Amino acid sequence: MASHSDVHALPGFVAMDALSVLRGGRRGASVQITDGYLAGQRTVLEAVDPPISTDDRSAICRESRRICEDIHIDIDTLTEGNLREASVRFRRLLQRLPEVSYLERHYPETCFVVPEWVRTPGEVRYGARVYFFADDAPDPESVMDENIRAVTDESPESFERYQGSLHGYPECCIDFYAGATRSPETDPESQSIAPLEERVRDDRLERGSPLSWSFDEVLRGFFDDPQSYAFFAHEFYPEPGCETARRRGVEIYETLAGALPEPLVRDYFRFNFGWSYLMAKAVRDGADETPEPGRFGREHALLYLPLRIVLELY
Ligand SMILES: [Zn+2]
Repeated sequence: MASHSDVHALPGFVAMDALSVLRGGRRGASVQITDGYLAGQRTVLEAVDPPISTDDRSAICRESRRICEDIHIDIDTLTEGNLREASVRFRRLLQRLPEVSYLERHYPETCFVVPEWVRTPGEVRYGARVYFFADDAPDPESVMDENIRAVTDESPESFERYQGSLHGYPECCIDFYAGATRSPETDPESQSIAPLEERVRDDRLERGSPLSWSFDEVLRGFFDDPQSYAFFAHEFYPEPGCETARRRGVEIYETLAGALPEPLVRDYFRFNFGWSYLMAKAVRDGADETPEPGRFGREHALLYLPLRIVLELY
């Protein structure tokens, strides 16, 4: 069975997502390559004292960020053909990103990058997502096709459902997320975190440097609520009170605890919840930025370091 040494070069939270895939807990996992992801890792790597030798993760992130800033994709008219042609071109550029090569090189099974298009009122935004699969991998072209079709048909819901199945989320939670009516009062992100929201010491997150607080200080009694186990994946929004998600989470918790120190597994669940909590706030505030590492406390920053370094700290 896969062990932590199979993924120990990956950033901590990505490594744990990937390890739960390798150990059969989920179909797939993914991470978005955003400016926050690249810039944030550099910040965390450079903040560690004493400095760590990491086959120059900082340089890989810096160079990838520089290349990303230079990528500009123009599409004249939004047709399936144009979008497909742009996807192929864009994917070739993304495959050359040092960060993408790094992730591919350090994951033992199927790993690939694809462009990701999101249609918003007035524009089509683009980004990049790296996927990790084990024995049930789709080919990259089908992922791109599903995305392109959802954009041209203006049916984001169909791509959300498809992505949910790629990530091995419970069917009921996919329905909850993709089928939700989006308004400031009903967005699924806020509903998902609501049962655990009161456990967050928001005053501490707002005040001073977030790095000065540990998870224990910003999240009170997280595991006292069984629903905490539903946060078994990065970027997952379980349906509130969902028993299937909770059970799946307990299985993944146990699988990961068979390969990693338990305090680290606990922090991974708190990290996932923290991310969803911050994203729910960002959605409510209409912000486009993803949360910077450390916004939810010290361990939120530490889990951006390569897993083998994280392991030395635990
Ligand atoms: Zn569910």
